[in-house]
Amino acid sequence: MQWLIIFVIVCLIGSMISDRRKERKQWNKGICPYCGKEWILYDVDSSGGRMYRCENWHYCSITHNIDKKKSVKKNM
Ligand SMILES: [Zn+2]
Repeated sequence: MQWLIIFVIVCLIGSMISDRRKERKQWNKGICPYCGKEWILYDVDSSGGRMYRCENWHYCSITHNIDKKKSVKKNM
């Protein structure tokens, strides 16, 4: 039984890491990877996920804490 729990935990961590990596790639240090414009904070959802858009209306949503420098402290 124990190995099953360990397996599940490893899977969860693995998917968290790959999610974060994907977001980090999309976030691209604050620059839209499609057109090179800066991401603009567009909306913050109730769970704290940030929606960004660029000048050319590309979107990205960031749920991990990878956009610290740019996020506006809306929900204190
Ligand atoms: Zn763009």
